[in-house]
Amino acid sequence: MTLICVPLVARTVEEMVADAVAAAAAGGDLVEIRLDFIEGFRPREHLPLLLRGCPLPALVTYRPNWEGGQYEGDDTTRFEALHIAMELGVDYVDVELKVADKFMNFISGNKPEKCKLIVSSHNYEYTPSCEELANLVASIQAVGADIVKIATTAKDIVDVSRMFQVMVHCQVPMIGLVMSEKGLMSRVLAPKFGGYLTFGILNAAKTSASGQPTVEELLEIYNIRRIGPDTKVLGLIANPVKQSKSPILHNKCLQSVGYNAVYLPLLGDNLASFLETYSSPDFSGFSCSLPFKVDAVQCCDEHDPVAKSIGAINTIIRRPDGKLVGYNTDYIGAISAIEDGIGGPGSKDAAISLLAGRLIVVVGAGGAGKAIAYGAKEKGARVVVANRTYEKAVSLANAIGGQALRLADLETFRPEEGMILANATSLGMYPNIDGTPIPKKSLSFYNVVFDAVYAPKVTRLLREAEECGVKVVSGVEMFIRQAMGQFEHFTGGIEGVMFSSALVLNSLHAKCFNISDYLYFLQLLKA
Ligand code: NAP
Repeated sequence: MTLICVPLVARTVEEMVADAVAAAAAGGDLVEIRLDFIEGFRPREHLPLLLRGCPLPALVTYRPNWEGGQYEGDDTTRFEALHIAMELGVDYVDVELKVADKFMNFISGNKPEKCKLIVSSHNYEYTPSCEELANLVASIQAVGADIVKIATTAKDIVDVSRMFQVMVHCQVPMIGLVMSEKGLMSRVLAPKFGGYLTFGILNAAKTSASGQPTVEELLEIYNIRRIGPDTKVLGLIANPVKQSKSPILHNKCLQSVGYNAVYLPLLGDNLASFLETYSSPDFSGFSCSLPFKVDAVQCCDEHDPVAKSIGAINTIIRRPDGKLVGYNTDYIGAISAIEDGIGGPGSKDAAISLLAGRLIVVVGAGGAGKAIAYGAKEKGARVVVANRTYEKAVSLANAIGGQALRLADLETFRPEEGMILANATSLGMYPNIDGTPIPKKSLSFYNVVFDAVYAPKVTRLLREAEECGVKVVSGVEMFIRQAMGQFEHFTGGIEGVMFSSALVLNSLHAKCFNISDYLYFLQLLKA
């Protein structure tokens, strides 16, 4: 089992002990006591207090500044402190590869049997090649480490794959972590690739390296105790990705139906190289969002016909034969949300769509804009496309047999009463929440206003539309429905799961909107 290690970075012994107690309560398995963070650290006085007060097994680290730590003194003083910790019965001691030989000489090769020696190497710049990483493992083994620790830095998400390759071939216990947000996968998937431990912090203020998730996220969102070699990897590839609620939603649903998979936020730079690098059957399905939905069409071997005509894909499934198949669930999600917004829940099931014959103004001609424009057209609506880059509005309008509009003309566009407005731009999306595609005074031209943006849940556009007495439909509605479609693709083919996934998502949906604080993920959606 991969252990969850909580790094303790408090400035005083008392705070360290309090954090160790909090780490145990949060569900950590051990703590890393970072002696270099303690101000005025006095080993003989402080170590017994720290180790006696710690309710979990402890790893003691005294990291020098030349390896990314806070300690600025000489090695001998550091080694003495580590030696005292060993004599006091500490479970693990970490020492840097660069001085590991020197440390072994210092302790004359004698360490208590109970104490495991972690020899570590940190690269804060990049992740070396597989060969270099393997050589590093060999050097660490050669100095007599019980556990190998290598931490590198991801410049690109594909860098993490090299760490995974080395971990699965390592013959000794290994901690292999890749720092930065792009390296998050290495931390969550440590149990899949045999990592000895992974770090989980108490909260964002108590981090010891970049990209560390909280213990709560590891346990509650990623369900890390259930991750093993056979766990499938799903995720959202996007840039930025931090703001997405998809990992919360999908992981909750995967847990509810007992499907052995984990869903990760994947901060990517290039979709094609990501899919090529993570090509094993275990990396079985991806959501894709900004800015990859159009690129995804090129990356897939086969396409759902609707997705192909939209020219944007938000779901990629790796079939058992390795072929990548692209789908677009945004289209169904958005259109059914708007239909239900016009006529109340269940309206999407009516024989004739409530969109038929209506005039809908779609603002935006990117992935979401195309999905809504094609979907509305298919339902018999008359579609007008407005976009910042006018040429894209023209091209989309021509493709679906609609009309194009310049964004500047939206303010005065009022050919008839009772129109529907759908924002499919990122205007108003966190963190630029003051953005809106249309002045407030023009919102009264519309009957229904839909905003694809779902973070925040109530955008400026929706707030102003409500103030004008217009019916509003939140992007959360689309988000839930597109996620339902994705979830069925991710889990499809497994007997019983299609049915229960729909049930779970339906019940999530019902609970979200009727009992708004019932579900954990919805609490976050309120942000
Ligand atoms: P996309 O393909 O990158 O398209 C972005 C669109 O926004 C383009 O039309 C772009 O216009 C426009 N835009 C960006 N910045 C703008 C600005 N400052 N002023 C005016 N227009 C601007 O993105 P997408 O995938 O379609 O996503 C668009 C939005 O929908 C995002 O906020 C996304 O989160 C949301 N969305 C929500 C859901 C959901 O489930 N609720 C699903 C999908 C998407 P140009 O063509 O001129 O660049």
